[in-house]
Amino acid sequence: MTHSETLFEQAQKYIPGGVNSPVRAFRGVGGTPVFFKHAEGAYLYDEDDRRYIDFIGSWGPMILGHSDPRIKAALHAQVDLGVGYGAPTAIETEMAKKVCELVPSIELVRMVNSGTEATMSAIRLARGYTGRDKIVKFEGCYHGHVDSLLVKAGSGALTLGVPNSPGIPASLAEHTITLNYNDIDQVRETFKDIGDQVAAIIVEPVAGNMNCIPPVPGFLEGLREICDEHGTVLIFDEVMTGFRVSLGGAQGFYGVKPDLTALGKVIGGGLPVGAFGGKREIMEHISPLGPVYQAGTLSGNPLAMTAGLTTLNAISEPGFHDKLTDKTNKVRDGLKAAADEAGIPLTVQSAGAMFGFFFTSEPSVTTFEQVMACDVERFKKFFQGMLKEGIYLAPSAFEAGFTTAALSDEDIEFTLAAARKVMATL
Ligand code: PLP
Repeated sequence: MTHSETLFEQAQKYIPGGVNSPVRAFRGVGGTPVFFKHAEGAYLYDEDDRRYIDFIGSWGPMILGHSDPRIKAALHAQVDLGVGYGAPTAIETEMAKKVCELVPSIELVRMVNSGTEATMSAIRLARGYTGRDKIVKFEGCYHGHVDSLLVKAGSGALTLGVPNSPGIPASLAEHTITLNYNDIDQVRETFKDIGDQVAAIIVEPVAGNMNCIPPVPGFLEGLREICDEHGTVLIFDEVMTGFRVSLGGAQGFYGVKPDLTALGKVIGGGLPVGAFGGKREIMEHISPLGPVYQAGTLSGNPLAMTAGLTTLNAISEPGFHDKLTDKTNKVRDGLKAAADEAGIPLTVQSAGAMFGFFFTSEPSVTTFEQVMACDVERFKKFFQGMLKEGIYLAPSAFEAGFTTAALSDEDIEFTLAAARKVMATL
């Protein structure tokens, strides 16, 4: 028995399913989840001392790679000053200023502790601001485990086959309208009937929780127009895409400005941080300025702010995202070439520093239906083969992959050699 197997057995005695977040349980791919004890740069090291090249990066935050010396030093220094005060600190303002500089649609920003809190608060604010209850989301998009957003959701909910979770009152879910990602005509039609009752459209500007689906030209622009016509708040959930698709997020990359943005992952540099922000006029409705209530014991925690701000400063260095995108493109093109060589139909898509691969003959994947038609069994075999070769991919056919600045050309070549070997066995 491996150490991971023993640890997983013990974990299941005390933790539901042995994990604190469902996709980690490997139910989407079978087998035992790997338990890790150490991470450095592009690598994770498991409890059996095996090394893996990491393409998950803690599900997105580790854009610099693991144990970055700048983050470690900043955290150590903050530990010596105290780990939290529950009162204002200078670093919170520094962080907020940095976010507003990097994401021009954000004029005021509030820190929270997770992406889920960010989307939940943004939705509440949009409802409070407009005085409307309905929200529109898209099938296969995941916005955290917020009640009104766990309707036809992606990510773990999709992997585990529960896109509509039990436990959510029908009276709440009925306010959530779910439409098809990348189908702007359907959004227009829906808004003709009920547009004036919709508080917000929330969208992943690149869908990363049903694999990786960039927006088709005109989709985000169309959402902007429709929201303007109907007084609806446009919320970009950039928890995954923020600071990753480009320094200014997906909104910077595609040139479409939302009213509100939800952030998470990279903004915390590996510590639990989320944020939501946007137009001053809307943000002024949040407490204590306005009546929409929102709060948090640990929000703006100095350790978390230190890790986040150090990360944002590091990724603001000129050329950072160009280099990271180059690496991602090499992985994307190399995976495609490996599949072609083995005669396996594969489509690989990317946006900045996120990518996804689909076992399908479709030349591009733009819809949820196409995602669902992909060969999941083949994905599982590929995943397990790559894991044996020391490549740690997301354990689900419905998750995007992430690259990090720590990934070297040698690591990419090692990964692609493994992919060629595994593709030949599929
Ligand atoms: N929104 C998106 C787009 C996400 O990908 C996620 C998490 O994967 C969330 C929200 C929820 O963030 P968290 O897991 O930090 O609550």
